Amino acid sequence: TVLVAGSANLDFVVRAAHAPAPGETVLGRELATYPGGKGANQALACAHAGAAPTRMLLALGEDAHAEPIERSLREGGVELHVRRCAERATGSAFVCVADDGENAIVVAPGANAALRGDDLPALDGIAWLLLQLESPLDAVADWARQARAAGVAVALNAAPARALPAALLDDVDLLIVNEGELAALTGIDDLDAAVAAVRVPRVVVTLGARGCLARVDGARLRQDAFAVEAVDTTAAGDTFCGVLVAALARGDGFDTALRRACAASALACTRPGAQSSVPSHAEVEALLHT
Ligand code: ADP
Repeated sequence: TVLVAGSANLDFVVRAAHAPAPGETVLGRELATYPGGKGANQALACAHAGAAPTRMLLALGEDAHAEPIERSLREGGVELHVRRCAERATGSAFVCVADDGENAIVVAPGANAALRGDDLPALDGIAWLLLQLESPLDAVADWARQARAAGVAVALNAAPARALPAALLDDVDLLIVNEGELAALTGIDDLDAAVAAVRVPRVVVTLGARGCLARVDGARLRQDAFAVEAVDTTAAGDTFCGVLVAALARGDGFDTALRRACAASALACTRPGAQSSVPSHAEVEALLHT
């Protein structure tokens, strides 16, 4: 079983010719709302991968925005541990998707900011704990420490980029970052030097349309992206993380897991939305065997 502890949001998405520059207002097109949040997207991707049962710890407000989030996760097969917050709104994200498929996002964390270390459910039967940085950093560090102490492998997607508590990386077995997050984490712009500098046994760096590279217990791995026509890269990174950890939890080798994660995240780029763009297991299989 994989346990994801992290954020869940309702995403309010507007497509526009380009994202607004500071001080600029852009007229976009129609508003769409989608369940999102890095934690919830990754949990759904993990469950869709079909490799391992998936559970999620999340916090929601007592408002109308909570319901579509819970429904999306439950219908996707994720077992939920919900911390209910009367005093905070359900998390929201305001997303502008530009016509070139890139996105710009502001998040109002709301209930997500109320999660604490002691909200983590019992870890019996959990093989992997998957974390992101949209939750309070002291809670994230506490969850990683509890998992490490219980013999549970810890995967951290260090996104969005934030300064980390010093001890957090000591409890991480697998770090997943994009190039910008890696540079922020290490203070090093050169990709190879930055990968070498991270003190975590396994590091995966996603490279957008160039795929990903990894350093796994000293060995270097590389996986090209699958060629697709990208219309919305929202949740590509989240799909990658969820599918990678699902594959590792099933016992796939690292090479195989990276290939699966690249195939699934490429498919996520071909559709709008966050959780709505996560592909099914069958779709990933089909792309892997073309
Ligand atoms: P993030 O969205 O978190 O910044 P990336 O942009 O690196 O992360 O994308 C994550 C993964 O999604 C990549 O490793 C790649 O496998 C896949 N991906 C992203 N953009 C494309 C694309 N244009 N074509 C195919 N795959 C893509």
